[in-house]
Amino acid sequence: MAGEIWAVGEIADGQPTRLTRELATLAAGLAAASGRTARSVLVGAGASAAAESLAAHGPDVLAVDVDAGDRPVAAAIAEQIAALARDRQPSFLLVGASNDGRDVAGMLQAMLDWGALVNAAGVRWQGDGPQAEMSVFGGRLVTQSHLAGDHGIVIVRPSAVAAEEAAQPGAIERVGAAAVEPLPAVRVVDRISEASAVVSIEEAPIIVAGGRGVGGPDGFAVVEELAEALGGVVGATRAVVDAGWIGYAHQIGQTGKTVKPSLYVAAGISGAIQHKVGMQTSGTIVAINRDPDAPIGEFADLMVVGDLFEILPRVSAAVRARRGG
Ligand SMILES: Cc1cc2nc3c(=O)[nH]c(=O)nc-3n(C[C@H](O)[C@H](O)[C@H](O)COP(=O)(O)OP(=O)(O)OC[C@H]3O[C@@H](n4cnc5c(N)ncnc54)[C@H](O)[C@@H]3O)c2cc1C
Repeated sequence: MAGEIWAVGEIADGQPTRLTRELATLAAGLAAASGRTARSVLVGAGASAAAESLAAHGPDVLAVDVDAGDRPVAAAIAEQIAALARDRQPSFLLVGASNDGRDVAGMLQAMLDWGALVNAAGVRWQGDGPQAEMSVFGGRLVTQSHLAGDHGIVIVRPSAVAAEEAAQPGAIERVGAAAVEPLPAVRVVDRISEASAVVSIEEAPIIVAGGRGVGGPDGFAVVEELAEALGGVVGATRAVVDAGWIGYAHQIGQTGKTVKPSLYVAAGISGAIQHKVGMQTSGTIVAINRDPDAPIGEFADLMVVGDLFEILPRVSAAVRARRGG
């Protein structure tokens, strides 16, 4: 019998992450296209509880409650997934391209001796396996790649699909933690949380992003003001992150985050391909640029030609006035 397609999930604050929900929807779609069975697998502290909401996305959920303690979370997850995979023989694993997800996928590759396709921006079923769409050569080419054989891992970027609830929720199977040989120890010496709410940039419905056109770190004040007025968050290009004007957590694009807000305001951003690949699927893209020929005009829904320092404060004031504040 053809092996199952598993979506390997992650838990944050007791809930499956958004990427985990997206993988569940993706696995369900691949299963429908291939006639195989999809399953979500959640490993971690509180997996059984988190499985309740993950099951709403369709595939049945395997939940393994394991507390990583002071060990790296990724190692604890990979050990259990590898044990389950040896036991139940799935064919394909979808793993999220998050920090922990990449670690989990790397460990699973070594433990299962499976190949992996990394950083997939889209996955569909083609022939007898998943086909991953990947952006290469600095975003200049988009490739379609296939795993050889009937086993492999696909590491999927956020927003490759939109998470959707299924008409019929999946069942939850609670599995006891397997007794495993712990992976060689990596000792966690410290955990540092990045300050501020920017961490939620991938989930924000509204993003106001600034590029080199803001002129310096202080120039972000007008960007922040509009983001606040709209109830959104601040994004940025790599150029300004590299310049040290704002932190990496805000970076959107090929080497930053992939976002899909309903509204993306790009202020002083030229629209380089490496930025475009991280935000092109946004609902409505509004660009503010003083160069009428800036490439972003080719894919923005609305291009306002002018100086961002004149335009943004006026838009912020108009939004606030409309909101009565
Ligand atoms: C391997 C690789 C990976 C990369 N990854 C990323 C990535 O993840 N994300 C990313 O963003 N980039 C990435 N880049 C860099 C990318 O190629 C561009 O250099 C970068 O996106 C440009 O940033 P920018 O638009 O802020 O700056 P610029 O290209 O310099 O554009 C600034 C824009 O601001 C406009 N402007 C200037 N002043 C004003 C004003 N007062 N009012 C209005 N408009 C104004 C200008 O007309 C111009 O269009 C990567 C590059 C490589 C090679």
